[in-house]
Amino acid sequence: MEIVFKICGQEVDPGKVKNPLTAAVLSRKAHATQKVLGPLKCSEHGGYPVVIFAGRNVENLTCKVGGCCNSFVQGITRRIQFML
Ligand SMILES: [Zn+2]
Repeated sequence: MEIVFKICGQEVDPGKVKNPLTAAVLSRKAHATQKVLGPLKCSEHGGYPVVIFAGRNVENLTCKVGGCCNSFVQGITRRIQFML
C-alpha cells in the first residue's frame, strides 16, 4: 500500500521531518493505517490501497483513499472510518 502525507500542498516524508512532534504524529498515523489496511488488496484487480493525508498542518489532516475501483475504495473507506 501507499501512504502519502501532504502538508500545505507539499509532500512530507514522516521519517525526514525535523519537528519531532510532527514526525511522531505522522508516523503514528502511518502505523495505524498500515495496521488497518496493510494486508488489503482488491480481490478483483489485485490493486493496493492508496491513502493520502492532506491539510494545512499536522493537526488538520484529512484522509483520502484511492484504489483501482469503486468497490475497493468503498471497502477501504469503511475500514479506515473506525480509525479516524
Ligand atoms: Zn479493483
